[in-house]
Amino acid sequence: MNNSAVVLLSGGLDSATTAAIALHEGFVLHALSVDYGQRHRFELIAAGRVAETLGVERHVEISVDLSRFGGSALTAPIDVPKDRAEEEIAGQIPITYVPARNTIFLSLAISYAETIGAKDVFIGINAVDYSGYPDCRPEYIAAFERMANLATKAGVENRLKFIIHTPLSSMTKAQIIERGTKLGVDYGMTHSCYDPDTDGNSCGRCDACLLRKKGFSEAGLKDPGK
Ligand SMILES: [Zn+2]
Repeated sequence: MNNSAVVLLSGGLDSATTAAIALHEGFVLHALSVDYGQRHRFELIAAGRVAETLGVERHVEISVDLSRFGGSALTAPIDVPKDRAEEEIAGQIPITYVPARNTIFLSLAISYAETIGAKDVFIGINAVDYSGYPDCRPEYIAAFERMANLATKAGVENRLKFIIHTPLSSMTKAQIIERGTKLGVDYGMTHSCYDPDTDGNSCGRCDACLLRKKGFSEAGLKDPGK
């Protein structure tokens, strides 16, 4: 039996926890990170650190330059929103949304998975804190999984029945941090900030920083990240 799985590793807290959960479940991990033309490389550097520390079988970084399209504060010279209230963050789809990003990432992940004969794909999306993102919803994942089995040779030949695992889907940030801490994840290796300084220090004010801060505070833990 092939117990390999592909895990999308962004370098953030959620994907590091997802990878740790998949390892804990006994999978041999093939980590996939996407250089999508984001405004800084710190999260990709973090992904490399996480992959190495957790002990994955292989870590692949692939480039798909979405900055050619722009349109998001993460891929174009648009200011990252700062100091937003919690209700504001949860309220509507923000300018940091990257058009169809999870669909692109998951498509790359099933391509990699089919190539290595793995049926399991892990992605650290979360429907609680980011209620506004259309591609974080459970119904989106269910539809993608169905599509994956229609779209691949391994799927139509019934050799692989793809499963898209979203272990964090219904967890709050605090619960994610608690789970990862129990599994020994060193969150000091991860990077969440959308708008770090040139040394990679977090701004402390973007949505990603604020959600991370709230998560650690609710979990009663100190954030070891910079
Ligand atoms: Zn930040």
